[in-house]
Amino acid sequence: MKTVGELLFSRQTKTITLQPFSMSNITFPIVLWEGFEAVHTEQSQQTLIIHLKPIDNGYCACGKPAKAVHDASLRSVSERTILAFQVQLRLPVRRILCPDCGIVREHISWLKRRC
Ligand SMILES: [Zn+2]
Repeated sequence: MKTVGELLFSRQTKTITLQPFSMSNITFPIVLWEGFEAVHTEQSQQTLIIHLKPIDNGYCACGKPAKAVHDASLRSVSERTILAFQVQLRLPVRRILCPDCGIVREHISWLKRRC
């Protein structure tokens, strides 16, 4: 795999800039992934992999913020196509300590639970 470059991210404009590309900087609007920020991209043939990093300890499905992170596993998720690239997200999915529910899988609003 080849590193495409750092993903520059702006919360104010809700756009990302991928650089370097064969063209000069490309900026386009993209839906954000609640609770995560994009930190790094990789390109493998026609696949663009976007690595996401949590911005906090996460939330329980009951709505309470986690008191702590118990552990995490890396998950790959298919995302919509950007230009000609199949997009995959790579993110840690964590088990958290909820003050009411104990140790549970964190709730990620935009991610379906794995069966
Ligand atoms: Zn809970």
